[in-house]
Amino acid sequence: MIQIAPDAPIGSAPSRRAAMPPRHLADLDLPGRQAVIAELGEPAFRAKQISTHYFGRLVRDPERMTDLPSASRDRITEALLPNLLTPVREVACDDGATRKALWRLHDGSLVESVLMGYPDRVTVCISSQAGCGMACPFCATGQAGLTRNLSTAEIVDQAVHLAGVAASGAVAGSPPRLSHVVFMGMGEPLANYSRVVAAVRRLCAPAPEGLGLSQRHVTVSTVGLVPAMRRLADEGLSVTLALSLHAPDDELRDELVPVNQRWKVAEVLDAAWHYAERTGRRVSIEYAMIRDVNDQPWRADLLGRLLAGRLTHVNLIPLNPTPGSRWDASPKPVEREFVRRLRAAGVSTTVRDTRGRDIDGACGQLAAAAVTP
Ligand code: SAH
Repeated sequence: MIQIAPDAPIGSAPSRRAAMPPRHLADLDLPGRQAVIAELGEPAFRAKQISTHYFGRLVRDPERMTDLPSASRDRITEALLPNLLTPVREVACDDGATRKALWRLHDGSLVESVLMGYPDRVTVCISSQAGCGMACPFCATGQAGLTRNLSTAEIVDQAVHLAGVAASGAVAGSPPRLSHVVFMGMGEPLANYSRVVAAVRRLCAPAPEGLGLSQRHVTVSTVGLVPAMRRLADEGLSVTLALSLHAPDDELRDELVPVNQRWKVAEVLDAAWHYAERTGRRVSIEYAMIRDVNDQPWRADLLGRLLAGRLTHVNLIPLNPTPGSRWDASPKPVEREFVRRLRAAGVSTTVRDTRGRDIDGACGQLAAAAVTP
């Protein structure tokens, strides 16, 4: 069981701050970058120049910043563009349409991100923490525990790096421009709240302040940290909220998503409907289909009753295999019956594809452990 003291700022214990990386321009808004530039004694417009390289042109190599005099270039890149993510390995599957990147952070922590190309869009799935403290027993990331929160720039830089990969034309059959970001990699985004919200703002600010994505194309997924969900509803953002529900009843959800011991199904759904009301955005309900565990017809009916008439959409995720797991995915006929019952209750429902399964890059498979040096 996870221990969460009432009102504790989850995941922000001071001891973890020690390992935070150096400041990077993606940690700062444009005025913040201008202040750093001023401290360096450089003209203010250099803040926009360096931002345009990073966010607009996806360039991070100082040699290519030929509009900056070389002395300024070194000073500025040292102050605002430290190397945050070192690529350790990149593996592809689905004919190159899915790529998993493994990064080493400045303190040796490892995190993963996944790039997924579709005919009409390119999505990256990014991590918000190294490891995860939520301990869901069917998820590989949950097994090793939390190492630390990522900084805003460490989060943003995953998307910017992979936007560069997409722009190079590496994802055949997809547009070259990154369009969608999902916070469904390693970690619990709402346990690293302020950095994740800052990262969303940076990803969505128009270039050169940010990457210029549409807020509607960003999804933040949560195990259901109720106070943080309510806070997110008041941020004035129109990102999609995804709730990892996985069971409609407290008895089972207490086991599958241990944080349910703190915030129950009814409370977490209330917070989801509050989010939908405040933002006008449909809340996604994530539900991993686990054979003989949560896939019974009665659970489909109960879920249907809880969700009927709400601004919501159910994503069923066939359980992906994880090391040492005693669970399997539901058989297809069982899955079809589950879908049928939810739809009969009037609940919009789809089954998620299993992109990245071959490279342990699918939902719940990110563990960043298997490094062969
Ligand atoms: N911590 C956040 C963000 C991770 S999103 C959250 O839990 O929402 C990753 C999604 O994949 C979550 O819905 C998670 O519950 C789901 N997942 C985890 N392990 C899985 C597995 N083995 N098979 C399928 N889905 C899984």
